[in-house]
Amino acid sequence: MPKVMKKIKSITINADLCNGCRACEVICSLFHATPRYSSNNPARSRIRIVREPLRDIYLPVYAGEYTPAECTGRDTYIIDGKKYDECEFCRASCPSRDLFKEPDSGLPLKCDMCEDEPPLAKPKCVEWCLNDALIFEEREEEVEEAEASAPDIEIGVEALIDKHGLQQVLDAVARMAKP
Ligand code: SF4
Ligand code: SF4
Repeated sequence: MPKVMKKIKSITINADLCNGCRACEVICSLFHATPRYSSNNPARSRIRIVREPLRDIYLPVYAGEYTPAECTGRDTYIIDGKKYDECEFCRASCPSRDLFKEPDSGLPLKCDMCEDEPPLAKPKCVEWCLNDALIFEEREEEVEEAEASAPDIEIGVEALIDKHGLQQVLDAVARMAKP
């Protein structure tokens, strides 16, 4: 299979530096509002902070892939004597919880690294984290051509079909396509 160069963007989370201020949630929801910066609702953010001040827990979690099926098992973590709730570290937008779903439509949310035109120097959450808990890096890697992931639009349509059924989605598209 032919190889292509792929740009890899990564954000390293230094959880020890996070104080739970939630500035990252605010700016992510503002940046992704339509029109841009028109509304602020952390429920629409692609980064959420696991935040329990009484247990000294502040942990940023980024929205990852959509999955139509929930896991059959559950994990619980204990780190430095702190017990975290089940699924706390999971990045998936899945049927078992409301996290990483657009509150009105239920469509999955996924971190897109603030892709923009022209490209930003760094993602908005990284720029707004005054504690340097989020560290951005960009590098190039050689990958097989087929590794390209499904476009976001396909993931969104798949989620709608899972939620409403294929026929209802087709009917809605047909109605919208009418002049
Ligand atoms: S902006 Fe930084 S310090 Fe504040 S909650 Fe987000 S990751 Fe933590
Ligand atoms: S990188 Fe951009 S899209 Fe991803 S969580 Fe941060 S602000 Fe949101």
